Amino acid sequence: MTSVHRPLISRAVIRPVEAGNSATCSVCGRPVKFSAKAKLQQVIANVYVDHVWARVEHFHAECYEAAGQPYGSAA
Ligand SMILES: [Zn+2]
Repeated sequence: MTSVHRPLISRAVIRPVEAGNSATCSVCGRPVKFSAKAKLQQVIANVYVDHVWARVEHFHAECYEAAGQPYGSAA
């Protein structure tokens, strides 16, 4: 029998975009690309549906803000 003491909920973190990153932004549909010139930030969200991990979504930091932070404020 398993009891869940800490419910798994969707949450988001903000991270630098790294070289070789190949994610696509969930808001604008464009690649989240590494740039050596601009130190870009991305938001990575672990999405849980009914307390079960469903997927990872990536966002440009500005797109995540513009979308109203759908998975809470990124930390
Ligand atoms: Zn975007």
